[in-house]
Amino acid sequence: MAEKRKYKKRFCKYCESKIDYIDYKDTASLKFSLSERYKIMPRRLTGNCKRHQDMVTVSIKQARAAALVPYTVTRKAVVTNPFENLK
Ligand SMILES: [Zn+2]
Repeated sequence: MAEKRKYKKRFCKYCESKIDYIDYKDTASLKFSLSERYKIMPRRLTGNCKRHQDMVTVSIKQARAAALVPYTVTRKAVVTNPFENLK
């Protein structure tokens, strides 16, 4: 239930900030649509609209090819909090 509540708000982040083009180099915005294992989050969880989800999907795949986002994550490298390594 706790995980369900995390994605309760159903609105498209990209529509809200009026983004027409998602750059594959902008990993900060792509990470909202990536799970902790760097899988693309489905639309039913993120609340993205179809138009933006398609853009995000293309951008993430481009970013993977450019090695900005990993394809796979080994079990050891999974982090729930990406900032905990900085301490
Ligand atoms: Zn949208």
